[in-house]
Amino acid sequence: MHLDSGNYKGTYKLIGGEICFDFTNTISWRETDHPHEWFDIEENLAQWAQITGILDCNQSRQLLHSTKDFNNELEQLKKTRLFLYNLFNSQITQGFISNDALHKLSLLTQKANSHQILSPSPSGYIWSWQQGIKPSELILFSVLKSASDVLTRGDLSRIKKCPSCQWLFLDTSKNKRRRWCTMEDCGNRHKVNAFNKRNKSK
Ligand SMILES: [Zn+2]
Repeated sequence: MHLDSGNYKGTYKLIGGEICFDFTNTISWRETDHPHEWFDIEENLAQWAQITGILDCNQSRQLLHSTKDFNNELEQLKKTRLFLYNLFNSQITQGFISNDALHKLSLLTQKANSHQILSPSPSGYIWSWQQGIKPSELILFSVLKSASDVLTRGDLSRIKKCPSCQWLFLDTSKNKRRRWCTMEDCGNRHKVNAFNKRNKSK
């Protein structure tokens, strides 16, 4: 199951390691003059929510077809996506998040968490989302919960940004030396460019 890339040559990959990063990564090359917006193709939002496991097949169909406010909901999601990107970018590049941004994330996450209920699971009990939440809200709540989980779980130096395409990811490697979104894409491109540069200067 892939996101439709339209005329764009790149591919979308779930490499963030956390839903909040996979969400911010639905814009590629964000800080350049050629960003790519994956949600310009509306079906991609439903597809994305399905491949990340947030929505099931019926819910993702419902998101696209039975929602009167789809455009408003998409705008709301895009705003949240930008907010989360700026928040993590601040942590990565400056080592901290402003009080204003933290406060905003607290409020948004509190609202999301108020829609969770305890329910039985094979291993005991789990928090799960209430029945009847709109699909777009399920996406919103899930990415907010993921973002606050990432911030409170520990090693913040594992939150990284690919220096090439600006995708965010959680570096779970043993030695914490992952630099690129993937070696096959930006890692290789960097290697080839460095090789060409070396050869040129010979
Ligand atoms: Zn990259």
